[in-house]
Amino acid sequence: MALDTDILLVGAGPTGLYGAYCAGFRGLRTVVVDGLPQPGGQIAALYPEKAILDVAGLPRVRGRDFVTALLDQASGYCPEYLLGRQAVAFGRAEDGRPEVTLSDGTVVRAGAVILTAGIGTFTPRKLPAGEDYLGRGLSYFVTDLDRHAGQNVLVVGGGDSAVDWALALEPIAKSVTLVHRRSAFRAHAASVTAVTEGGTQIVTDAEVEALTGEGTLRLAHVRVRGEERPRLFEVDSVIAALGFVSNLGPLAGWGLELRGRSILVDSRMRTSLDRVYAAGDVTEYEGKVRLMSVGFGEVATAVNNAVVALDPELSLFPGHSTENS
Ligand SMILES: Cc1cc2nc3c(=O)[nH]c(=O)nc-3n(C[C@H](O)[C@H](O)[C@H](O)COP(=O)(O)OP(=O)(O)OC[C@H]3O[C@@H](n4cnc5c(N)ncnc54)[C@H](O)[C@@H]3O)c2cc1C
Repeated sequence: MALDTDILLVGAGPTGLYGAYCAGFRGLRTVVVDGLPQPGGQIAALYPEKAILDVAGLPRVRGRDFVTALLDQASGYCPEYLLGRQAVAFGRAEDGRPEVTLSDGTVVRAGAVILTAGIGTFTPRKLPAGEDYLGRGLSYFVTDLDRHAGQNVLVVGGGDSAVDWALALEPIAKSVTLVHRRSAFRAHAASVTAVTEGGTQIVTDAEVEALTGEGTLRLAHVRVRGEERPRLFEVDSVIAALGFVSNLGPLAGWGLELRGRSILVDSRMRTSLDRVYAAGDVTEYEGKVRLMSVGFGEVATAVNNAVVALDPELSLFPGHSTENS
């Protein structure tokens, strides 16, 4: 299959979704591709239930609700979403336009490509002791907090995700146990204080040695350093929040100028490849800050500069959205 579009956004995380709005606002046909089966990038995959507190004008918004709002904002311009397929290869059409091949063989020809690929492809670090129970009590992400209501939940990990999940589950779970292999947590100090003073049972210097149960998970065997026998915890769910491994994936071979795992851009968000821009977590320049609000600004810059590259008669300034209301 071959597709023709004005703008191809590679990555349907928050930056790509807002980019779809910006491109639509400029009257451009837009295709958004993502290797994950759902839009929302890190938010949807890693913290859909977490409260986001630092988006301008939104004092508090749940991750999944924010993704829905971003989709809603872009929907008026009907971007085409190609989910569950990666952008794997880059080339040029006969007329010099970028041409991107997806993992299912689809070829997308675009006036400009904007790489909103975030931290690239990411996979969770596994809990070796419990792999057999994946999907049967063991999970690496919390996609639906309510599923754990009334359960005995054991969270594994010492970073922000583990501590945040323990805090989020405290009010709804029957019990929450937090197991960390070190004595100190790496999470935000205020969260550590909250979890220490809250209702979560904390077990440090400890590792999950085995998970057992007939069919579904029933017991977590936790080995505490210095203790002769493992402690046994009755559990309905184990959430292993051990972080994830990220990798730029196929984009690393496209000939882009990179710094580490990030793509170097100039102040117009141009990469080293003609008509290929980048925005959001994937970009690198002096002073770069990896926050969503920064990505939103960058993708607005990328889209509006791409507009002028596609048609030099057009203005860089998009006009105000209020003029369309
Ligand atoms: C636990 C946690 C909490 C956070 N809390 C906050 C917060 O409170 N406030 C804040 O501002 N930021 C927060 N962040 C950071 C924030 O999530 C990121 O800055 C944001 O997700 C970056 O958005 P993005 O769209 O640039 O990239 P991503 O969200 O990483 O999305 C990129 C997308 O591109 C896709 N992709 C990559 N390569 C390809 C390819 N070759 N083909 C197709 N698709 C591809 C990926 O599958 C992914 O869906 C948090 C991050 C984490 C992990």
